[in-house]
Amino acid sequence: MKLSSYASVLAALASLSESAPTEPVARDLPLVQSNQLRRVLLRSELLKKGNILQDFAYATEGRNRYIGTPGHNSTVNYLVETLDALNYYDIEVQPFTVPSASSTLSVSGAEYESAPMTFTPAGAIVAAPVVLVANIGCDAADYPAELAGNIALISRGTCTFAAKATFAKAAGAIGTIIYNNVEGLLQGTLGGEGDYAPTVGISLADGQTIVAALGSGTVTADLDVDLSEILTYNVLATTKGGDQNNILAVGAHTDSVQAGPGINDNGSGSIGILEVAIKLASFSTNNAIRFGWWSGEEEGLLGAEHYVSTLSQEEADKIRLYINFDMIASPNFVYEIYDGDGSAFNLTGPPGSAEVEKLWEDFYRGEVDIPTKPTEFDGRSDYGPFLDAGIAAGGLTSGADGVKTAQEAEWYGGTEGIIYDPNYHTARDTVENLNVGVWIQLTKGIAHAVATYGRSFETLPAKVKRSERSEKRAVSAGFQRKGGKLVY
Ligand SMILES: [Zn+2]
Repeated sequence: MKLSSYASVLAALASLSESAPTEPVARDLPLVQSNQLRRVLLRSELLKKGNILQDFAYATEGRNRYIGTPGHNSTVNYLVETLDALNYYDIEVQPFTVPSASSTLSVSGAEYESAPMTFTPAGAIVAAPVVLVANIGCDAADYPAELAGNIALISRGTCTFAAKATFAKAAGAIGTIIYNNVEGLLQGTLGGEGDYAPTVGISLADGQTIVAALGSGTVTADLDVDLSEILTYNVLATTKGGDQNNILAVGAHTDSVQAGPGINDNGSGSIGILEVAIKLASFSTNNAIRFGWWSGEEEGLLGAEHYVSTLSQEEADKIRLYINFDMIASPNFVYEIYDGDGSAFNLTGPPGSAEVEKLWEDFYRGEVDIPTKPTEFDGRSDYGPFLDAGIAAGGLTSGADGVKTAQEAEWYGGTEGIIYDPNYHTARDTVENLNVGVWIQLTKGIAHAVATYGRSFETLPAKVKRSERSEKRAVSAGFQRKGGKLVY
């Protein structure tokens, strides 16, 4: 099935569910075995698919696979078409919307880069005078009477952006500009709904330029804050065979940031699980396997959160374990396993999280003879919402913005003292800059878990209804998880 434009995804899905048989196809396939599934995985297939995603990005204005763009929508189409051709999975495309904001600011005729604060209202202000707020605007008395009907300019610092935006509106401001107190564009959140005028952040340097201009006369600005929604899609593929009451869920995010094509982050994980899904179709499984490709991860794990929010407690209880793969081909790589037992970082996952960590520790120590290290189980990728729902989780990664240690350089080669992926969230996150060796080895780790749990969950703790147990578990870290946005 060929999908010519993206608006056709839902229509295509509708025809897909009409034509696809809902009951398992009678098959005479051998029961999956780890070594057999791993053996058929090829580097050349990973690379070929990496190039396909990169082509999607480069055919897009902005050369990325950001949510809502042709680059991302083509990625979703490609997954659906590839999986559908296998006639092995029940496929679901799950649409959802992501709030989106943009802003433009011009001051005395010059354009300035601005970032709308999360929770700002929309609004267009034309040729309004800018009024400097005294001190750092943490006191109502800092807001002068002449703010009424004008735009407030305030320094970042000490009190919340919400406090400043609230004071400004109360003083009659029709717009609020907060400038940074350190270098760089200020990207912030008001933290929740409130009585604000349209509010944006700007850089320290731009703030100082406007403050200086105010010192020598009246300054007027145009400020436009636009709010909209981006429609995007998760893709789910569940084996038609296997016990549908005992499911292994396997996930990766499909979206990139705006800065680049996102081939390590996270074309690598998307392709890694796709390749395992393709090869799995030559085998049978005792348990069901559900692959999930999440959108909106870079905007705050929104796709995984949406998926988990659609599960009833009964459906969530069927998922025995969720495993996540985000960045598995980093050029200055490490072999990291999520610290599900809390031994290194003291954040423990629900029962089963420790066991999957051990599965991979044993696999890489024994079969492959590659050292591994634990990575903090902090919910900074799509497993966060699963943990929040009490579902056991694990994952593998080759590293993002952590800095390589001397010990790691000794183990894996590469460069000590720089980050695992120097191209992280940049235009250089391309196929050419991946490490294919770690990519295939971590994809084999995916296959090992899929084969092991596809056969049996006997190594996991007995199934306990989540509603009937209480436990200490990793709790995702709110705003920090959602891209580290700053409230102050
Ligand atoms: Zn990622």
